[in-house]
Amino acid sequence: MASVFVPKTVFVTPKALEYPDTSRILDAFRRAGSVIVRGSPRLPRNLTAAARYARAKTIVVLGVDKKPSFLTCRPSADYQLNLVKGCPGMCEYCYLQTTMGPSPYIRINVNVEEILEKAGEICRRKSGAVTFEGSSVSDPVPVERYTKAISRAIAFFAEVPNGYLRVVTKFTDISSFLGLDHRRKTRMRYSLEAEEFHREFERGTQPLEERLEAARTLAEDGYPIGFLIAPVFLERGLGPYERLLTMIKEAFPSGLREDTTLEFVTHRFTERAKSQILARRPDSRLPMKENDRLFKMGQFGYGKYVYPAEKLAQAKDSMMELVNRILPGVRVEYFV
Ligand code: SF4
Repeated sequence: MASVFVPKTVFVTPKALEYPDTSRILDAFRRAGSVIVRGSPRLPRNLTAAARYARAKTIVVLGVDKKPSFLTCRPSADYQLNLVKGCPGMCEYCYLQTTMGPSPYIRINVNVEEILEKAGEICRRKSGAVTFEGSSVSDPVPVERYTKAISRAIAFFAEVPNGYLRVVTKFTDISSFLGLDHRRKTRMRYSLEAEEFHREFERGTQPLEERLEAARTLAEDGYPIGFLIAPVFLERGLGPYERLLTMIKEAFPSGLREDTTLEFVTHRFTERAKSQILARRPDSRLPMKENDRLFKMGQFGYGKYVYPAEKLAQAKDSMMELVNRILPGVRVEYFV
């Protein structure tokens, strides 16, 4: 059975209270056992970085995003669709370690209809297919049973001729998605890490076997599915990933549909991420030696340490061979 995320405290801002959905969402949290508080959270100043981080992950804030930004979201989609920001998971390598600041509360935007309407306007202005990533600044699935935000986006994009939704998660509480009229316009992907790195660096997420079982359930419900293998660590070769691809194959004994996708993102870190991660977890064994990496400017104007180009190219070739051998027919969307 899927494990259910129940935040300790749910804060609701005055703006969020103006939206009709808010009382339904608050009722759902209340029934699950969360304490509801009006206003915004404020954690004690004297908490250590680790304690602040852990405490923030138990707090949800209901707010409003009046001006959704729809930033570009390459390579996974055309635009970000930010209905939720944050995640109760505590993966050491997570990009949210830095992007959400010292107190990464899980933020839920209650004005889902307004945000979707704006996404629809973008689709109407474009002639070709337009894809939106529902997980670019979050893992929205743990709070879905309360918000129904992604479910509404699934129903919304089913009706928009050129609009497509993509969701990626490490969580298995997916009952809200089953039986929806998705018309195969939403691609559900599971984020997977090689077993040994999963055990070492992922905290507060679901076991790989359970994620694969949930992926199978979603495929049986007719969703196009995919797997995001990230981050790919190259320090121990590709053996761990060969085992992971085999695990995917074995989880689908009758085979994967031909439109199943794979995405690969190699490990990278910024200076800020490194200091933030080490402040929260001084004994972290994440590979973050600058000398082993290449410094590269990213799309949002800050530099990051990536694997050197030659090492990356070799790894890409070897990974493609593994995919062709273990999961033939599955489409690799990108390896970055
Ligand atoms: S589950 Fe995903 S979003 Fe959540 S902490 Fe882990 S990597 Fe980050």
